[in-house]
Amino acid sequence: MQLLDGIAVSNQIKLELKNELIEWKAQGGKVPHLAAILVGNNPASEAYVGNKVKTCAELGFESTLLRFDTTITEFELLSEVEKLNLDDRVDGILVQLPLPSHISEDAVINAINPDKDVDGFHPISQGRMILGQPGFLPATPYGILLMLDHYQIDITGKHCVVVGRSNIVGKPMSVLLSRNANPGNATVTICHSKTADLKAYTLQADVLIAAIGRARFITEPMVKAGAIVIDVGINRVADTSKKSGFRLVGDVDFESVASKCSFITPVPKGVGPMTICGLMRNTLNAAKLKKVN
Ligand code: NDP
Repeated sequence: MQLLDGIAVSNQIKLELKNELIEWKAQGGKVPHLAAILVGNNPASEAYVGNKVKTCAELGFESTLLRFDTTITEFELLSEVEKLNLDDRVDGILVQLPLPSHISEDAVINAINPDKDVDGFHPISQGRMILGQPGFLPATPYGILLMLDHYQIDITGKHCVVVGRSNIVGKPMSVLLSRNANPGNATVTICHSKTADLKAYTLQADVLIAAIGRARFITEPMVKAGAIVIDVGINRVADTSKKSGFRLVGDVDFESVASKCSFITPVPKGVGPMTICGLMRNTLNAAKLKKVN
């Protein structure tokens, strides 16, 4: 079994991005600027946004974090997004999800200028992805492609089973794995909570992608020997030995599954750092592609 090391791969990609930025600036290019919106103070969202802002600083990107109380209305939040759309200094916009229930996530995502949609969630970005046109790929599936590419894992003709069909992970992942590109050309099955006999599908997976949001849900009897396992899940479980009182585990029961796999991502330090790389890659691209009026 080989561990797919998100920290090592992300460090290499960050170095590549830093060098690309140096070249871009030498040609007179603008420093990429990411604007992040955080509503409320959900601890997990705070941590994710904090990491994104920190990575911008590490790479030499500019960033702005706009924080709002959960009492913000949908109308007010849409106006904030519009301000960022119109701000020439800003190349990329991300709105950290989830949003409070009185705000429509679809409305907010749809309001982002597609040219600044570095999370790749806008319908235009998703449409381009499905059609195989250039655009921003959703950060997590993009990060997973970067990881497969780094380890030169050829998935051509392989059976990939994606468990989870969310708009931000499972659904785009299934499209990207099956596209006629590299990495891609896999045969894909997508499973969800209504799938009957999930194990019958996961057992057929040469590549198993778990994006479910349930701690250690995929156990050893559900995994084919020699499978490549990508664990997207980030779940908090109580752990009294930790100062915080919790630790992070994936959707895969790593302890029982790891020895059966050819490759597996750990949680943390697997897909998480790769997601940030996907976002940073998109942000640099956004700055480079910016339309100059
Ligand atoms: P969602 O809750 O939006 O989607 C979960 C999916 O899992 C749904 O499609 C759901 O099915 C399916 N599911 C739930 N229970 C079962 C079950 N018993 N059997 C089969 N399928 C099931 O989650 P996300 O896609 O946003 O996130 C998934 C996980 O990945 C979470 O732990 C999240 O924290 C993590 N995540 C990690 C990221 C990273 O950077 N590492 C980035 C984004 C997310 P149905 O559609 O039928 O409800």
